[in-house]
Amino acid sequence: MGIVVQKYGGSSVADATSVKRVAQRIVATRKAGHDVVVVVSAMGDTTDDLIDLANEVSPLPPARELDMLLTAGERISMAVLAMAIGSLGHEARSFTGSQAGVITDAEHGRAKIIDVTPGRIQTALDEGAIAIVAGFQGVSQTTKDITTLGRGGSDTTAVALAAALEADVCEIYTDVDGIFTADPRIVATARHIPQISYEETLEMAANGAKILHLRCVEYARRNQIPIHVRSSFSDKPGTWVVNADDIATIRSEQPVEGEVLPMEQAIISGVAHDRSEAKITVVGVPDKVGEAASIFTTIADAQINIDMVVQNVSAATTSLTDISFTLPRSDGQTAMTALARLQQRVGFERLQYDDSVGKVSIVGAGMRSEPGVTARFFQALADAGVNIGMISTSEIRISVVVSESQVDAAVNAAHEAFNLGGDEPAQAVVYGGTGR
Ligand code: ASP
Ligand code: MG
Repeated sequence: MGIVVQKYGGSSVADATSVKRVAQRIVATRKAGHDVVVVVSAMGDTTDDLIDLANEVSPLPPARELDMLLTAGERISMAVLAMAIGSLGHEARSFTGSQAGVITDAEHGRAKIIDVTPGRIQTALDEGAIAIVAGFQGVSQTTKDITTLGRGGSDTTAVALAAALEADVCEIYTDVDGIFTADPRIVATARHIPQISYEETLEMAANGAKILHLRCVEYARRNQIPIHVRSSFSDKPGTWVVNADDIATIRSEQPVEGEVLPMEQAIISGVAHDRSEAKITVVGVPDKVGEAASIFTTIADAQINIDMVVQNVSAATTSLTDISFTLPRSDGQTAMTALARLQQRVGFERLQYDDSVGKVSIVGAGMRSEPGVTARFFQALADAGVNIGMISTSEIRISVVVSESQVDAAVNAAHEAFNLGGDEPAQAVVYGGTGR
């Protein structure tokens, strides 16, 4: 049988008991005849604790040293897990990202994988051992320094290794039974999704669903690696993230007990929400060629990624317009400072900052061929008394910005309007604490 890559998140290896439980799962997979490569995250909240520690000793920890510190979290879990497997009578060898051949660029804190050369992993497998790899880290091709891939990056390590080793599947173990039609903490009737396409998962991940690291899904789609998201706390089938075309095949080969196959693909697959953004409005911008370009060049020069943009029609009497956009809250301060410096030159009136916003998105490949989806979504929001601040769409997604206090109501209204709910409430069990 082939190679299986398994990734265990921080909540799955939070303490010694959890590590032993995970070790048993890994050994069971090995006994079933697979070659097993395991990617681990740091135990529990270790990464957050290490960040706090860094901030206690330095107001602005140097990026190189911060990466060196954070990668220690995954070193602890990989070694402890290898020991636990050893005590079950199976050989396990742990490897840092660098030893596993994860080569990145030199962008500390958000390095991108540029190559994976897993020679030592392959050798370990050939010699019958289980390979354990520290997630979320690599080594820079140019500087040879240790890098990290960004928060939640262990998912990406796992998929990258699966691609390089030509594994059959990449299993991502977390503390919920896969992907749901909405966050089960908000929507009591949220349903488990047995299969979902890469495209839809990308939209969900990019719009706040915390189940998978965005770059992991991009990597999997590009390399055609099937992802199986499942809980390390149960044996229930999780969610398969695959090509849209393969979903029908999987459904006929692996029917889920009790599941009634829909006659047609559902219009909407899920509802995602995001509370991590803020909105900036530049008020009273002269309605002239090039003003929007200067504003967004300033934002881009500050290395900030914006999300939605709205420009109002300028008032006829003043020919001044307002431009609003959303961005990560964590970049809010930087953006406001940069724009304030631009005020003289562009001559806008003032800046407004609003961080009490949230984004709610409906995602579904089925909306491509279904008229009236926007109308149905907006009517549901209206019926729930939710006011829409901004709107953006892709071919398979509609997102709105609403007041943060109305996010839960909006998610529930959308879920209901597209009949996403199951019959019984609370099918979803959140086994750990964090959803990761
Ligand atoms: N330990 C890292 C983090 O907490 C990486 C990961 O969990 O994937 O972000
Ligand atoms: Mg983590």
